Amino acid sequence: MTIIQSRGAAVLIGAASWTAAEYGLHRFLMHELRGRGLASVEHLKHHADVTYFSPASKKLASAAATTALAYPTTAALAGRRWAGAFTVGLLSMYFGYEVAHRRTHTHPPRNRYGRWARRNHLHHHFGAPMRNFGVTSAVWDKAFGTYDDPGVVTVPRRMAPVWLLDETGAVKAEFADDYLTKGAARADASQVDRDRVAAFTNAAPALELGMDAGPKGGSPRGR
Ligand SMILES: [Zn+2]
Ligand SMILES: [Zn+2]
Repeated sequence: MTIIQSRGAAVLIGAASWTAAEYGLHRFLMHELRGRGLASVEHLKHHADVTYFSPASKKLASAAATTALAYPTTAALAGRRWAGAFTVGLLSMYFGYEVAHRRTHTHPPRNRYGRWARRNHLHHHFGAPMRNFGVTSAVWDKAFGTYDDPGVVTVPRRMAPVWLLDETGAVKAEFADDYLTKGAARADASQVDRDRVAAFTNAAPALELGMDAGPKGGSPRGR
């Protein structure tokens, strides 16, 4: 038996496969479809309102759908034991990704990786929604030419994660090298509508209230 046929390798290959799935699903199923289909609607709602996350029931349904596709396919190719281990690796990374993505929005970074993951994902949200599709890694963005170095990320203040700001609403000193905020702290109803339009056309949200969103998928930094 070669190493690649071992169950340990199957778990690792499953985990690595998730990073590719994360990129492909996020780019094509969620963004390119622009609101056609449940996955795209749910994800673009999250772009319009960054505090919105799909309910757990929908995530479990998508995990079940992933298993229903991945397990029989790999079982036909490599046998049921290998396929079972592969699916464990795939689903473990899927749940790890769900936790990591949510924490990106809700908790401050604790190390270099966390700092990168937040800048990377918040650049995707607020700078260029058609760039930086990977959330847990940049491997596939780099392979397919969709990676931007996040640089200093400009965040519309109304969408700023709570961990970024101090009690006066300013960017905390420890994050000042990585982030700027712009605009008002709250959105009125018409801005909520404009944020939704921007999200569903894959445009970055406007930095100032009342302004039109920037170019589709473009970067306000004029990259
Ligand atoms: Zn997000
Ligand atoms: Zn996205």
